[in-house]
Formats: sequence, structure tokens, C-alpha cells
Amino acid sequence: MHDNHYFQVAIIGGGISGTSLLYTLARYTDLSSVALFEKYDEIGSVNTNARSNSQTLHCGDIETNYTYAKAKKVKRTANMLERYALNHGYGGKHIHKVTKMALGVGAEEVAYIKKRYKEFVALYPYMELWDETALAEIEPALMEGRTEPVVAMGAKDQYSAVDFGAIAKSFVDNAKKESKKEVELFLNTQITSMKKRGDKIILASDEGEYFVDFVVVNAGAHSLLLAHQMGFGEAYSCLPIGGSFFYAKENILNSKVYTVQNPKLPFAAVHGDPDLVKDGIARFGPTALALPKLERYRASHFVDFLHALSPDETVVKVFYDLLKDDDIRDYIFRNFIYEIPGLRRNEFVKELRKIIPNIEPEEIEFAENVGGLRPQVIDKVKKELLLGEAKIETEIGVIFNMTPSPGATSCLGNAEVDTRLLCDYLGVRFYAEKFKKELE
Ligand SMILES: Cc1cc2nc3c(=O)[nH]c(=O)nc-3n(C[C@H](O)[C@H](O)[C@H](O)COP(=O)(O)OP(=O)(O)OC[C@H]3O[C@@H](n4cnc5c(N)ncnc54)[C@H](O)[C@@H]3O)c2cc1C
Repeated sequence: MHDNHYFQVAIIGGGISGTSLLYTLARYTDLSSVALFEKYDEIGSVNTNARSNSQTLHCGDIETNYTYAKAKKVKRTANMLERYALNHGYGGKHIHKVTKMALGVGAEEVAYIKKRYKEFVALYPYMELWDETALAEIEPALMEGRTEPVVAMGAKDQYSAVDFGAIAKSFVDNAKKESKKEVELFLNTQITSMKKRGDKIILASDEGEYFVDFVVVNAGAHSLLLAHQMGFGEAYSCLPIGGSFFYAKENILNSKVYTVQNPKLPFAAVHGDPDLVKDGIARFGPTALALPKLERYRASHFVDFLHALSPDETVVKVFYDLLKDDDIRDYIFRNFIYEIPGLRRNEFVKELRKIIPNIEPEEIEFAENVGGLRPQVIDKVKKELLLGEAKIETEIGVIFNMTPSPGATSCLGNAEVDTRLLCDYLGVRFYAEKFKKELE
């Protein structure tokens, strides 16, 4: 049964999660055939695209919402992506050394950053602590007009900026170079449903049916939709959170400047950095707004959103609990305003002044059609909004992944986990030593 319609493994979704898995399976296993299905005509055109995300390799050194343990974990997976990129000669091409820092503003945050620096420097020995004089030299715009005390922990010579879309494309190209494997890419092919028949999973698309032994669904917010269609993941609900950006009209920032995160709202604190795909023009954001759709800027069905959200009493309770919190309520309200033409620049600039005190509304503009959507998952059993990734494992040879931030950074770590799971299930070999030698 080795015609064009049978593959040992199918991956649904050609973002960085799906493509990194394709590469890992092609290079580090003895599978004979693997197929990747992507509904659009291009790889990495949704959240993985450089215009959709913050282009940051989140290795844990400037992400103040990470505990030491979490930082250690993401450092390993971020290093894998860096190693992959450098092994293939993408340094300075798809991955760049950009000065980065976590900025503490005001006495409380200054004390916090100093304490954090002491603790985290063991894990990131290249990190430096920058006082106001150092900051005025490294990034003058941060200090002009500044009245509160500031300090930053940062690094100048590390790979910190990534064009994840370009990396995703490279994963496919490099997977195809693995000569002993059948590696098939199906673009413009949307998987509309999946079912188990006998020992095979049948994938239905407008182009016909495909038979596979194992499927990994890396379809962003659509993963949960497909899971629900198959009767899995009923304990989860997906809340899509859109994120927009603002551009500076002139280049005013050369570094990645992150601010101290509120632990209740990870990745919500404003940051600014030079945009890799817009000639280094500084970009600020992302904002965060719950949206009734599964994709940010493409037509998507409200009904699909409702299926993925699957609203019920528990979902309402989670929303109610979120809205009860003053910080979260205020944050939701402010982020709603950031989307309203006529109001948004004036309001967003107030938040941005934490980074650039002297900035005026006229110096920024809303970045139209830029930004993505984070498929945040609600755990209905625990009655809480999960702040990271979610995986639904089944016993029938299907895995569903939802990968909000920092899913792009952790793509190879996630691919390793799925590779181990599917190799165990199918009884094929994972060349763990080779994987470790090349990527760790
Ligand atoms: C504003 C914002 C900022 C972010 N910043 C960062 C950052 O700085 N660093 C970081 O590491 N992460 C960041 N992230 C997160 C990161 O972008 C995502 O974790 C990552 O892109 C997820 O990749 P993915 O492949 O899982 O999903 P996607 O890139 O969304 O890809 C899913 C793919 O599945 C396809 N698909 C969907 N349904 C089907 C179907 N039925 N059949 C076939 N194909 C289908 C889609 O077309 C799409 O191409 C950010 C996210 C946002 C929104």
C-alpha cells in the first residue's frame, strides 16, 4: 500500500511547528514516508510569518515571566533552533544578533531586575546589568526625558531575532534533501475531516483522501477544531487572542527592549524592537484582544470559532474570573481601545512611554495587516486559562497541538516530543544521539 495516498505519518499545518516536525522526522528517524498538508499556497504564512509575531528567540533571559526552571527548559529548545540555523548557514540571514534587554522602570522594578539578574546570570553568563549611564549609550531614546530610575539586564552579542517564516521554509527544503525518505508537501490542501478506519487514519480534503498510520495536527487555533470534530479535547476550549503592532515612523530603536511582565498576563507587557522585514524600522506591541475568529487577517468562519470555543458554563466562569481581576479587566479594556482608529495612537503611546519617554503619538502609526493570533487554551477541568502550549494525545495515533507564544522558539523541542511519541507508537527508530549531537 505505497501509492501516493498512503503515508506513514501526516502533519497538518505548514507553520513552524509542522515544518520543524517534518524536518525532525525526515532527518532523525527511519520512517519511510511523511507528508505535510498546508491549506494555503505558502509555508509559514499565518502566525509563523515574520509580520505576525515578535521575531524573538525567547530563550528565557529577558522574559521576566519565566521562573528559573521554565527558563532552563526554554533555553534548551531555543538553543536547538539557534544551532539548527547556524548549522545551515542562516546566521545573519534568518537569525540575527540584536542587542536585547529586560528593562525595569521605577524603584520596584529596578529592585526586581537587580535581584533577577543575580539569580539568572548563572544560567545566562553573558548577561550584563546596565545602569542609566550604560543605557544612555546603548539606546539613547530610552533615557531622553526619563524621570524615573531604570536599570536593564541585557546582552549585546547574542542571536535574538529570528525570521520564523524563513526558518519554516528552510525546514521543508532541508527535509526534502533527506534522500532515503519520501517527503511530500501538499500546499493548497485543507484537511477538512479525519476519521479512524481499521488501523488507518483517513484524512479528507477537497483533493481526495489520504491514508496514514499517524497524524500530528499543528494547525494553530484550528487544531482544537479538528480535535473536537473527532471527539477529542472536549475538556479544552480555544480563546483566540489577536495581537497588533505599531510602527515608528523613523528608526528610533536598535535593540529588543522588553519590559517587566505582569505574572498574570505573560507576554502582555509592551516591547519594542527593530523589525527584521521592514528595514529595521522599530515595531512596538503586541497588543492583545480576544477575537471571534481563528485567523487574524484572513476570512475565517465565525462558526469555526464557536466550535473551537465551545462555550458553556465553565467557559463563562473562566471569563468571569478573569474579568473580576482589576489588572486583567483594565488590560482588556486598554487593548480594546488600541484597536480603535482615532483613539489608538494616543492611548498606546502612553504605554509606550515606559520604553521611550519622549515619544509622541505622531511618531507612530498602527501597523495595518500586521500581527497574529494566539490560540490560548482554556482548561475546562481546571477552570483556568492556560498560559502556554497545549497538547492532546490520543490512543489512536493522532496528536493535536496548540502553540501560542513562545511556540516558534520551542518548535524543535516540541518536534522532539512528538517524534518520540510517534516513534514509540509506530515502532520506528528515533536517532536521538544524532539529534542531540547536531542540535544540542
Ligand atoms: C503577536 C504574536 C507575537 C508572537 N511572538 C513570538 C515570538 O517573538 N517568539 C516566539 O517564539 N513565538 C511568538 N509567537 C508565537 C508564534 O508565532 C507561534 O507559536 C507559532 O508561529 C506557531 O506556529 P504553528 O506552526 O503552531 O502555527 P501557525 O504558524 O499558525 O501555522 C498553522 C498552519 O496550519 C495551517 N492549517 C490550519 N488548518 C489547516 C487544515 N485544516 N489543513 C491544512 N492546513 C491547516 C494554517 O494555514 C497555518 O499555516 C507570537 C505570536 C503572536 C500572535
